[in-house]
Amino acid sequence: MISYQIVEHGRPLQRVLTETPKPQGSEVLVRITRSGVCHSDLHIWEGYFDLGGGKRFYVKERGCVPPFTLGHEPLGVVEALGPRARGVKRGQKRLVFPWIGCGKCAVCKAGQDNYCVSGSRIIGVNRNGAYATHILVPDAKYLLDAGGIDDAFASTLACSGLTAYSASAKLPPLAREDRVAIIGCGGVGLAGVAVLRAKGLKNIIACDVDAMKLETARRLGAKEAVDTRAPDAAAKLAGMAGVIDFVGTPATAALGIAALRKGGRYVLVGLHGGELVHPLPPIAQRAIGIVGSYVGNLQELKELVALAKKGKLKPLPVSTRPGSEANAALEDLQAGRVIGRVVLDFEALAL
Ligand SMILES: [Zn+2]
Ligand SMILES: [Zn+2]
Repeated sequence: MISYQIVEHGRPLQRVLTETPKPQGSEVLVRITRSGVCHSDLHIWEGYFDLGGGKRFYVKERGCVPPFTLGHEPLGVVEALGPRARGVKRGQKRLVFPWIGCGKCAVCKAGQDNYCVSGSRIIGVNRNGAYATHILVPDAKYLLDAGGIDDAFASTLACSGLTAYSASAKLPPLAREDRVAIIGCGGVGLAGVAVLRAKGLKNIIACDVDAMKLETARRLGAKEAVDTRAPDAAAKLAGMAGVIDFVGTPATAALGIAALRKGGRYVLVGLHGGELVHPLPPIAQRAIGIVGSYVGNLQELKELVALAKKGKLKPLPVSTRPGSEANAALEDLQAGRVIGRVVLDFEALAL
């Protein structure tokens, strides 16, 4: 198999040729056809997350030690099954749920794999990911049939779509006319606009500093577009029932929390970095909620795939490029040159 690996954090990925693994037990070997490139791949590539105040969280402290293969938006074809694998057949095309926990703790047993703290097996974060021709998936229950959805778009549902879907579920109960702001219109933010629109919300306010991204958000169903650098940005964002922040900087958090109406909720998704400093009394007096959201669970991905199959979810713009261009794709994403999502095509690289 071929994989594009982090050999040293911050250095270009290396093309590595290794023996294709044989699935053991309940494992399934999936030959990757499409693999989305996510903004959090950049943080893992660089090796740390910025915690603000000069503090950093290093990914190697959580077991992500090079050599390591990124990629947590995998779509592919079942190539081989371990002796105890059940529920899929060779040749079936499947979307892979990557946010896999230990499978044994109470959190995992409750279907909240993405909150597991006792031995996560997240594909592309804790174990080798899908910037490769093949991956091993621990169990067939993490494979979903995404038939009928465009392959490249389907792969993006595993992280950008799911993250947006799960964040939207953390908003307070909403009426169709309620105003909800999306801060940051990169791949996940645009998926957020599409998800809120699919849920029937009419007044989605897209926020970004990039005119092209704002225009794309409008096409996906945002009613208004706000350039957050404009002097009247804060005024335009008053009275929000909910805000989902897909950037996550001190500035976007301040903007989002200030925009809430009483009882509103600010959902933080973006991992750009920094720290939150906020006076305490207004949180109580305004009865606002500040909540984090991290990717999503298997049941949510099933619901999202069903929504996409019905044609209710507008696809975000996706550009597909050969898997061999993984480095260039990361660099373009880092430089802010990507509208929507870049998806790598590993089909042509398969051995
Ligand atoms: Zn991601
Ligand atoms: Zn667990």
